[in-house]
Amino acid sequence: MQINDQITTITEGKTQILVPRGALEQKVPPRDIAFFNPRAKLSRDFSIIVYSTFLKNFDGQKSFLDGLSGLGARGLRVANEIKGTEVFVNDLNPSALELSKNSAELNGLHNYIISRSDICQFFNGFSKKGSRGAIVDIDPFGSPAKYIDCGLRATVHKGLLSISATDLQVLHGLFNDACKKKYHGTPVKTTYSNEISIRLVLGLSIAVAARLDVEATPIFVETNQHYYRVYLRILNKPDTRNNIGYIAHCRNCGNRHTTPEQIQNCTLCSHKVELAGPLWIGSLFERDFVAQMIQNIPDYSDKKCEKSIRKALLESEMPACYYTLDEIAQMLKSAPIPLEQIILRLQQNGFSASPTSLNPTGFRTDCKIDKIKELFSAQPIS
Ligand SMILES: [Zn+2]
Repeated sequence: MQINDQITTITEGKTQILVPRGALEQKVPPRDIAFFNPRAKLSRDFSIIVYSTFLKNFDGQKSFLDGLSGLGARGLRVANEIKGTEVFVNDLNPSALELSKNSAELNGLHNYIISRSDICQFFNGFSKKGSRGAIVDIDPFGSPAKYIDCGLRATVHKGLLSISATDLQVLHGLFNDACKKKYHGTPVKTTYSNEISIRLVLGLSIAVAARLDVEATPIFVETNQHYYRVYLRILNKPDTRNNIGYIAHCRNCGNRHTTPEQIQNCTLCSHKVELAGPLWIGSLFERDFVAQMIQNIPDYSDKKCEKSIRKALLESEMPACYYTLDEIAQMLKSAPIPLEQIILRLQQNGFSASPTSLNPTGFRTDCKIDKIKELFSAQPIS
């Protein structure tokens, strides 16, 4: 492919990337040459921080496998911005791969290898002991469900598997049958649906891993309006934990919590609850890892990254199922109060409380909803 007037160069992070001009000019990026979403820069900034933190403590070949690379934005950035990596990218679209190759040359990369295969064929080439990837990435349009198995097999012991999902409508409960088929669990529509969605993606990933005698543990998750993204540490040993369960949500009083078994009635008001799951009910963040991430934020990252990672650190050991200021205000038919104010009130009353990286007006607490409402209505602390 000639670099013509349909193609332009952008700089993302420290990396030059050749992209279709239309991808920058149109609201919905076109797919005729190769798909590129400039808005996904934030997600790639997060990836660079997670991957570089992870590889600092990783012994062995620092290989990165991207099964659905498109024009290679993530892989190019890994190859260019994280020292000592060897990057293998794969896609079926020849135009995307040509752009990928030309971008690699533009950045003078010699650690960037391109292949054209079906994703699982590509991963299968790395599934033998000794050839597995340190970091494996699955970033599809839609659901990652059918690629998790081969992605796991291509990830080395003590390696990292990152997975994106963009089938938000399915995960939010618009098509419950489709969600059950793809994720083996169903959501409940709530104000914290993004957390339920992430837990469904994790639940499936961890269940598939357990079937392969592999233990997969989330160390970081992030989301925006268009995608969910999870990062799992992989250990080749049988999974003996029991962290797959349900979220019980009460529409009557707003009570919410995880439960290892299905329950029928609200523990506070006895009203019938709605159940989401089966899904992952363990931690979404590994505290020590998130703390190390803060030390590894390049100064050229989007400023939103640091803000979000600092919130993730605060919420890393907090209970599942956050609350939002708006829903509490709506329950009480009053105006919302500032986030810092409710967190302070909860803490001063002996509860743990934190913001959440999953929602700008969300907070986590071990306080139950009846008491939260009481504290919400209390006079401001002077
Ligand atoms: Zn209730």
